[in-house]
Amino acid sequence: MSLVHAYGFVSPTSPCRPLEIDRREPGPKDVLFDISYCGVCHSDIHTARSEWGPSTYPLVVGHEITGLVRQVGSEVTKVKPGDRVGVGCMVDSCGECDYCRQGLEQFCDKGVFTYNQIGYDGNLTQGGYSQAITVQERFVFRIPEVIPLDECAPLLCAGITTYSPLKRWVQPGMKVAVVGLGGLGHVGTQIAAAMGAEVSVISHTRSKEADGLAFGAQHYYATTEKGTFEHLAGRFDMILSTVSSTADYTNYINSLNKTGVIVNVGMPATPVEVYVRALSPRRTLQGSLIGGCAETQEMLDFCAEHKVRPRIEKISGDQITEAFDSVVGSKVRYRYVIDADTLGER
Ligand code: NAP
Ligand code: ZN
Repeated sequence: MSLVHAYGFVSPTSPCRPLEIDRREPGPKDVLFDISYCGVCHSDIHTARSEWGPSTYPLVVGHEITGLVRQVGSEVTKVKPGDRVGVGCMVDSCGECDYCRQGLEQFCDKGVFTYNQIGYDGNLTQGGYSQAITVQERFVFRIPEVIPLDECAPLLCAGITTYSPLKRWVQPGMKVAVVGLGGLGHVGTQIAAAMGAEVSVISHTRSKEADGLAFGAQHYYATTEKGTFEHLAGRFDMILSTVSSTADYTNYINSLNKTGVIVNVGMPATPVEVYVRALSPRRTLQGSLIGGCAETQEMLDFCAEHKVRPRIEKISGDQITEAFDSVVGSKVRYRYVIDADTLGER
């Protein structure tokens, strides 16, 4: 065990404050790495505030983690000390079930998420708002040289969460809409454009229009403007919804063509009403949850090749509390990334 500096929460309403947490010594298949950066995902906020049900405190969140390998276990072959690596939303899984065998580790019944879960060592997992982490080698990814560690961090969750459904559905030339231009949405817009789609951004205001077009969208719509949904009726082959709050899903479903698919990745804390009749003629409403290990590495390589880069704003540990409010208020442009050097003396 080694003690590391972190920032975390002691209750759903507490500010994010300095804590010390234990990290296990690496077992034979483990990688211990020094964290350089960690992105601030909206899921961190939902969890820190117990919006999805009671979380366990003290709690350190963060699952968009990049850094440099310090030490590896005797059986590790994937990386060596000094390598640039990243970890996303998971740190372990059984490796044997049908889902794990298919590369869908995110659905493993024994899968361990990066924070707020009991890991295979019996301890509560604590996330990346900290200076080091020990992770099963399968959940450690190689970061391509061309992507800086700070800009790379958001790809470990926002990148894979949008890449996976886009890869499942997008063909070049398809009309794709990304709903919500936040952390996920601004990466998803770039990925969909890189896949050859004709991309539209649907935001609730015009305030991000220039950015949406710069990220590769050809069209931009604001839902608070009168007539937007009438104008969009029947238009899209695919819609990717990243909205973190409740939205009128029936309007989005009606913006699909008759065989279109809407994939929802946003996870609002409260139920959403859907007028299911809008799904007839033959529209599909689908969920999606991050992506598997092989797909995450594939996404990183894709982003390196196609110059997909999150737009980040670096913050220090003592700015996290304020940053959460700014994300909830849709003010972030477009992902806060915590510099782990600011969390305490190394
Ligand atoms: P984010 O940066 O806050 O972006 C969410 C966007 O949703 C905002 O930028 C805003 O876009 C839109 N929005 C927020 N409130 C709204 C409202 N009241 N009405 C309409 N639009 C609203 O959050 P994120 O980090 O991208 O995460 C988005 C959601 O995905 C969260 O719920 C998160 O938990 C979830 N998530 C899911 C997965 C998964 O695997 N399925 C993975 C990661 C995150 P505009 O300002 O452009 O309208
Ligand atoms: Zn996330």
